Amino acid sequence: MINEKYNIGKTLTGLGLVSGGLDSLIACHIMQLQGINVIGLNFISPFCQYNRESTNVECNLDLFKEKLGIKIYYLPLGEDFLELIRNPKFGYGKHLNPCIDCRIYILKKAKEFMKRIKANLIFTGEVLNQRPKSQHLRALRIVEKEAGLEGRLLRPLSALQLKPTIYEEQGLIDRKLLLGIKGRGRKIQMEIARTHGLLDNYYACGGCLLTDENFTNRMNDYLKFHKKPKIEDINFLKVGRHFRYKNTKIIVGRNEFENNKLLTLKKPSDLIFEAKGVPGPITLVQEDYNKNSLKFAASLTLRYSDFNQLKGQVIYGTDYNNLTKEMTIEIENDKILKKFLL
Ligand code: SF4
Repeated sequence: MINEKYNIGKTLTGLGLVSGGLDSLIACHIMQLQGINVIGLNFISPFCQYNRESTNVECNLDLFKEKLGIKIYYLPLGEDFLELIRNPKFGYGKHLNPCIDCRIYILKKAKEFMKRIKANLIFTGEVLNQRPKSQHLRALRIVEKEAGLEGRLLRPLSALQLKPTIYEEQGLIDRKLLLGIKGRGRKIQMEIARTHGLLDNYYACGGCLLTDENFTNRMNDYLKFHKKPKIEDINFLKVGRHFRYKNTKIIVGRNEFENNKLLTLKKPSDLIFEAKGVPGPITLVQEDYNKNSLKFAASLTLRYSDFNQLKGQVIYGTDYNNLTKEMTIEIENDKILKKFLL
């Protein structure tokens, strides 16, 4: 796909931040058309809604390799990202999405990575004004300044709407071959994708759970009760119904997939509840619990099981293959149960 006509930047290696979506695919392609050797960097985020096992959302990082021959490196978000969510310098979007801080964080990591692999520049698939709160001109400037990339962050899709980077000024990148896209539409990107045989139809990639209202409630609760948040804990927040009963966290599986997932995620200290003798959810009880919160968890377990009477039994313990404890419980009414739903 590299157009040999354009060989201005032939010796440069560009590190592209790739999400798996259309914009970053086209940005990489545009850079290759300049003769840039492109390497991709993708951040593995627990907040990415894409999950091959449980969603139908498409995200196609394979295309980068298949169509453009790009090697992609993967970096996980660290616990410091969770601290950033707790206290973002530039605030939140509509929900718990600290988009400006998130971009800065990612670019700082990318900058370190760029040095490690000896790339010459960083570029992104950002499009001016594509997202009203985080991709307006001022936000783009803040991001590059705070990331220590002032004048050095190339955005090939919107470059003609922005001040030239030093690479353009020095003639290392040919500005005439960059684009001036702005706004939410994907028409130009799709035209390029079709013309160059990269893609036939537009697909929306993933999405971020921090922009989801329900997830935001769970995440806020998690941060409130965990002074040292852990990336691996975020996986719990994506499964089941969540209840906060004082200092106890209770998670109730909604189907077989979630029941199995909860059993896989379960920590050694978590308690597992199950209705006795009838099909029903796996319930996990976490953090501090006492007699009352265990009763509440038992009640929830029966409520969401196939049990159809007011009083019944649950079994529980820390080992799913050996739930030795038993409790007889009356199911609380729904209004009370749902008061604790996150
Ligand atoms: S939507 Fe999520 S992943 Fe995207 S910039 Fe905002 S916080 Fe980061």
